[in-house]
Amino acid sequence: MTGQDFGEDLYDAVILGAGPAGLNAAVVLGGARRRVLLLDGGPPRNARATAAHGVFTRDCTPPGDLKRLGLEDLEPYDVTVRATPAREIRCEGDLFAVRCDQAWVRARRLLFATGVRDVLPRIPGLRERWGRLVHHCPYCDGWPNREARLAVLGSHQEGHHLALSVRAWSDHVTLLTDGPDELTDKQRRDLDRVGIPVVTTSIRRMSGQDTLRVHLQDGRTLEHDALFLNPTQVQGSRLPALIGCELNEKSRVLVNENGMTSVRGVWAAGDMTGAQQYVVNAAATGMLAAVSLNTTLIHENVRRAGAAFHKSPDEAGGVGEA
Ligand SMILES: Cc1cc2nc3c(=O)[nH]c(=O)nc-3n(C[C@H](O)[C@H](O)[C@H](O)COP(=O)(O)OP(=O)(O)OC[C@H]3O[C@@H](n4cnc5c(N)ncnc54)[C@H](O)[C@@H]3O)c2cc1C
Repeated sequence: MTGQDFGEDLYDAVILGAGPAGLNAAVVLGGARRRVLLLDGGPPRNARATAAHGVFTRDCTPPGDLKRLGLEDLEPYDVTVRATPAREIRCEGDLFAVRCDQAWVRARRLLFATGVRDVLPRIPGLRERWGRLVHHCPYCDGWPNREARLAVLGSHQEGHHLALSVRAWSDHVTLLTDGPDELTDKQRRDLDRVGIPVVTTSIRRMSGQDTLRVHLQDGRTLEHDALFLNPTQVQGSRLPALIGCELNEKSRVLVNENGMTSVRGVWAAGDMTGAQQYVVNAAATGMLAAVSLNTTLIHENVRRAGAAFHKSPDEAGGVGEA
């Protein structure tokens, strides 16, 4: 890469990801009169869901509509939206070079809001029903399934925990362990006490449009209105790790309370940081990160003018710094 590969563009901030975290960060930075590039790498994590619940003033809104409204909110601001993912990032002194499509742009700051990817169990027919009949969060999809015939998929402590939780939305909950389980005797007694039967037969496949049909290896078919599970998750993008952002043991990007990562000049927000995974919370962490990022720009500009605040937010350091 040579200097000539860069376009003319220098942004105050490049935001990677246009889910709730990235969109809210963009609206905050736009309102702070920053020149922002928002890279929209694809649909948000809940794109397969019919509606998002627990969203202030927008309860039960389809995720696609939430995104459209979020993008419309950006119109008054100097925020450029490009429907392309970031492909590569390089640190260039105090700046960052970001490649999207074939073009490079430069940014004074980066804000990752690239989310997580759900890794679903490899049961034939499950993935196709994700977000419709197969869910992960009762706060998101419990209400439409209240008093319905619910199944929980899980073979150890997490299955036990999720089944007991989901029981608050319906009296009809069955725990499916999909073969041998690791439940303790105490956990079995707990489930029995609250009326949750445990089915330990392996699952062959799932089918059904309006209801979920679970075909077991022994030939039986169970019918449920919905199934809940706890998917494994991985980072939505490899870029944070590639530029050196520290991750925790669950592969979440480590951030301080303001969303600063361990790499100077780089913030992260939303699901990818281990924040509680809800739309409104992702948006809230996007706001906090944007405010913190903007504060460092204000301080930098004041410094360049030869003035100074009492204390620079840069001095507080990111998560990796003392
Ligand atoms: C099926 C389902 C249903 C849900 N229902 C609800 C609900 O009802 N209520 C609720 O509060 N929460 C719900 N959630 C959780 C909610 O969707 C997430 O908490 C929220 O979307 C997280 O927002 P985010 O901005 O952190 O990440 P995401 O929404 O995942 O957005 C990240 C974005 O970054 C993009 N991206 C990735 N890599 C790059 C790159 N290199 N460059 C540019 N962009 C990139 C991705 O394409 C994606 O668009 C649900 C989740 C799922 C899976």
